[in-house]
Amino acid sequence: MYVFTKEVDTEKTFVPEAEIWELLEKTKNPDRKRVLEILDKSLNKNRLEPEEVATLLNVEDPELLEEIFHAARTLKERIYGNRIVLFAPLYIGNDCVNDCVYCGFRTSNKEVYRKTLTFEELRNEVRALVSKGHKRLIVVYGEHPRYSPEFIAETIRIIYETKVGNGEIRRVNVNAAPQTVEGYKIIKEAGIGTFQIFQETYHQPTYKKLHPRGPKSNYAWRLYGLDRAMIAGIDDVGIGALFGLFNWKFEVMGLIYHTIHLEERFGVGPHTISFPRIEPAVGSEISYNPPHKVSDEDFKKLVAIIRLAVPYTGMILTAREPAQLRREVLKMGVSQIDGGSSIGIGSYSQDDPEKVRKSQFILGDNRSLEEVIQDLLKEGYIPSFCTACYRMGRTGEHFMEFAIPGFVKRFCTPNALFTLREYLNDYATEETKRLGYELIQKELERVNNRELVEKYLERIDRGERDVRF
Ligand code: SF4
Repeated sequence: MYVFTKEVDTEKTFVPEAEIWELLEKTKNPDRKRVLEILDKSLNKNRLEPEEVATLLNVEDPELLEEIFHAARTLKERIYGNRIVLFAPLYIGNDCVNDCVYCGFRTSNKEVYRKTLTFEELRNEVRALVSKGHKRLIVVYGEHPRYSPEFIAETIRIIYETKVGNGEIRRVNVNAAPQTVEGYKIIKEAGIGTFQIFQETYHQPTYKKLHPRGPKSNYAWRLYGLDRAMIAGIDDVGIGALFGLFNWKFEVMGLIYHTIHLEERFGVGPHTISFPRIEPAVGSEISYNPPHKVSDEDFKKLVAIIRLAVPYTGMILTAREPAQLRREVLKMGVSQIDGGSSIGIGSYSQDDPEKVRKSQFILGDNRSLEEVIQDLLKEGYIPSFCTACYRMGRTGEHFMEFAIPGFVKRFCTPNALFTLREYLNDYATEETKRLGYELIQKELERVNNRELVEKYLERIDRGERDVRF
């Protein structure tokens, strides 16, 4: 019944297209009482059903829409507090055998420069990232036989081994092609965090049209890619859709059905949900003119609805989006953002005038990590580089944050403060230090177990690193 080999059942899906259209039709013009009931259900930490999500997607009334935004902000504050986890994307190579029409890396694109980092270049990239203060990466690979599971595992090992002064990468998440169960096991051995696969579009006819060649043209192989990861023992998986390829309401419904499928089959939903909007890519006509362009207003709405629909999941907002929009959308329930991102292959360690031609798309937010951190501090967020749960064997951390009362106060906030203190002491300018120390002082007023937290902070000030609860 499930799809594990590339040869069989390319049409298989748990995303019921007809049912989705029916639900979206049936729930048009929702009444206020019903919408408020649904928001209430979500605020009580329940995952929403497809019919409920469709109802929220159909809200147009500005006042009701404000209720949705308000509920998303409340849910975020209530469950996750004011931490924002920071990471950086690291592109390892852009060779690709697929031909996805919206992507700069596609095999038929002659305008992109092909490049795969040598292991020495990889070390240089990691050194550059660590020297800025990064602790968490998402590593990205095209789909190509040279990026075998063994190669991916080796690059991850190199990343963990590469240290500079007090700094090191403590968690590597992976965004790569769907693997076989055996392949995932090899990659897992290297000690990865989350394995991400984005379905791009959940709408099969559109998927077929946009993925004309290569292994990615098999919808089901990709759709069940994270099932195989789970079977291989990778508990943290990330799903996502590329918004702009098809009707955005349909894609949100696809993400919900994917979530439900993982819950039903494995007893645990996705660790993270991503919702990138398509951005211009060198040599891709469609990327400049997406067929279903999502407006900023709809984007905010979809982020808020995903937050409410799956209250336990982490939500990732990337530097594809411009800084101002990122500031606004953060409030809707985002838990992770990237900072100081550079996606031209090899461009962290070297200024490269051709970096755009080595990139998958063009970034919207080019602020440095320090600028992003300053901004977060000014807005009252705690920038966090915490990787504690993953390293203490507490996987499924978003689920714990969500499910265990007091977990955020007991673990996440102190750990966020410890990693912020490390950052301030090792990498920050005087201005950032001032803002950061002030925020830590303010947060100390409300942490549990203040004495112990202060002791740990003193240990960091004395030079100890990687202290955590
Ligand atoms: S303590 Fe765990 S759940 Fe909380 S931020 Fe750190 S890693 Fe995430």
